[in-house]
Amino acid sequence: MASSQLDILAFGAHPDDVEIGMGGTLAKYSQEGYMVGICDLTKAELSSNGTVSLRQQEAKAAGEILGISIRIQLTLPDRGLYLLDEYIRKLVTVIRKQKPQIVFAPFNEDRHPDHANCAKLVEEAVFSAAVKNYIDEENQPAHRIKSLHFYMINGFHKPDFVLDISETMSLKLNSLKAYSSQFETFLDTVETPLTNGYIETIVSRERLFGIDAGVTYAEGFRTKKPILLTKDLIGEQNEKA
Ligand SMILES: [Zn+2]
Repeated sequence: MASSQLDILAFGAHPDDVEIGMGGTLAKYSQEGYMVGICDLTKAELSSNGTVSLRQQEAKAAGEILGISIRIQLTLPDRGLYLLDEYIRKLVTVIRKQKPQIVFAPFNEDRHPDHANCAKLVEEAVFSAAVKNYIDEENQPAHRIKSLHFYMINGFHKPDFVLDISETMSLKLNSLKAYSSQFETFLDTVETPLTNGYIETIVSRERLFGIDAGVTYAEGFRTKKPILLTKDLIGEQNEKA
């Protein structure tokens, strides 16, 4: 893993989490020249459908569709993302090496416990990464990110802010379709929530987020700290009757 400086680093528990929650946003910022990365904590080895190697190929294809700069694959255990010092240290190592300005993690209110556990691990790692005397696996200097936000995987929650993805919604959809083992039905497919119209629900959700903001499609995010509006205050809000 070469050292770099990312603008945005999005963590997910499983390959496909980030695409579901914020693929449009990552494609948008990649197109604008920002350095964008994804870090998957597990290989989703307990997934009901597809194999680990197939899912790795799908993740690579999805990342290329979104135009990301780097995809980091950790090998923490699927369904075992507990708050262990060993795991936090691995995430700190990634954060200090990639030096992102903005970090994203799944929103913790989600039917899949791995997504909430991923959020907790990322929060811990973001904090420890900035602590000068915290030693990571490669003894790197501390790194303080600018902000941490949370994207939504399963479910619909009132967002704290949204990002317009009208121009990149088609790339998001293509990145999801790259995970055909997860979202398509084959002869040996085990029925899961993902194979039952899941992509349509994501389209509907992003459409609803978009309508509220006066655009066609948007992705919604939660955050724990207030968003500081600057010069964009005037002209960005769209109050429609
Ligand atoms: Zn997941």
